[in-house]
Amino acid sequence: MYFYPMNLSYWEIKTWLTNVDFTIVGSGIVGLNCALQLKQCFPKAKILILEKGILPQGASTKNAGFACFGSLSEIIDDLRHHSEDEVIQLLKKRVQGLQLLRETLGDQTMDYQQLGGYELFLESNSGLYEKCLEQQDRINSVLQPIFGADVFSLKQNCFNFKNIKANYSFNQFEGQIDTGKMMEALLEKVQRLGIKILNSTAVEMFSEDLNSVKIKTNTIEFSTSKLLIATNGFAPQLLQQNVKPARAQVLITKPIKGLHIKGTFHLDEGYYYFRNIHDRILFGGGRNLDFKTEETSEFGETEIIQNKLEELLRTTILPNTNFEIDHSWSGIMGVGQQKKAIVKQISNHVYCGVRLGGMGVAIGSLVGKELADLLK
Ligand SMILES: Cc1cc2nc3c(=O)[nH]c(=O)nc-3n(C[C@H](O)[C@H](O)[C@H](O)COP(=O)(O)OP(=O)(O)OC[C@H]3O[C@@H](n4cnc5c(N)ncnc54)[C@H](O)[C@@H]3O)c2cc1C
Repeated sequence: MYFYPMNLSYWEIKTWLTNVDFTIVGSGIVGLNCALQLKQCFPKAKILILEKGILPQGASTKNAGFACFGSLSEIIDDLRHHSEDEVIQLLKKRVQGLQLLRETLGDQTMDYQQLGGYELFLESNSGLYEKCLEQQDRINSVLQPIFGADVFSLKQNCFNFKNIKANYSFNQFEGQIDTGKMMEALLEKVQRLGIKILNSTAVEMFSEDLNSVKIKTNTIEFSTSKLLIATNGFAPQLLQQNVKPARAQVLITKPIKGLHIKGTFHLDEGYYYFRNIHDRILFGGGRNLDFKTEETSEFGETEIIQNKLEELLRTTILPNTNFEIDHSWSGIMGVGQQKKAIVKQISNHVYCGVRLGGMGVAIGSLVGKELADLLK
């Protein structure tokens, strides 16, 4: 006997909540892609997605839409902590994941544009700049087997940024998407296949018996044959895995007449990132100013970070342009010491695909697929 405080009818219980084969928690990129893949393998399965927000409410609808796989300084840093083979595997996954996303939705649907990515080096950080110049050829040859061409080259400061070195590191393969269009299309695709999404439904706990998993949410309780958890930065609320929440704050300017900046940009070792979108600049980052406060799954903006973002816009990114901030927001990422996502079976009927870090646009589709593949 289950508890239905919402006064659910016989029909509602039977149609939505009975004989559920797969329940996925989280309707972000991972949860939605996992659902698509499960439907492909098990066309007759009843699949339910539970989402605590009225919209997906984590990182997938909040992000900056960089279709990236690592800047030069990031790859150099990764090579300090991982073997060359591990770094190549990480990059391969990002490239494959992006390819899968593009195949699933089509470039036009999500406005995918390969405008290139730029890494800018602060005038004050000559050490990093020189290290990158020195290592560029080596990294290009490490990446040659994946891309079949040199990924990184040098470009002159053609966008008139201030307080940065005269040259950028340019990545010809980096692209950008319209995050809203991508998520809208994924949600539509999932629902068109008969996969049901229950919004405003937060999973509070679950317990497993021999053949099924009982799920308790803020509104209903029911049973499912298999439970798949795709809650990324919120994973610690349901799982004991090595994942921590990491809040990321973003702002967007009002439209700027004649904006000449086009592409995706990484600044100060990737702690800051910005891009053009609809004649605006979207700008985020600054977690390094206050890591402790930003290790939270609560949404919100702080003065210290928002002020720094505005200052960098004024002094470095748009030094000769009048602009106004239109809007700020935040999202929650899932991070850990290791960059690899956690995709695994937790117990007999429970699985998870979490800890996407800052690159879920690239790897999210593949992690969703890998999560579904655990059920094959
Ligand atoms: C500000 C910001 C900028 C970013 N920029 C980029 C970028 O430019 N490029 C890039 O590749 N990546 C970027 N990322 C990272 C990327 O967005 C994430 O890696 C990716 O979206 C993670 O997808 P996900 O499906 O794993 O998690 P999420 O999108 O967080 O999805 C998890 C879902 O689970 C739901 N949920 C959580 N707990 C429960 C519960 N108990 N019950 C029910 N539902 C629950 C949440 O509401 C959420 O919708 C950025 C992230 C942020 C926050």
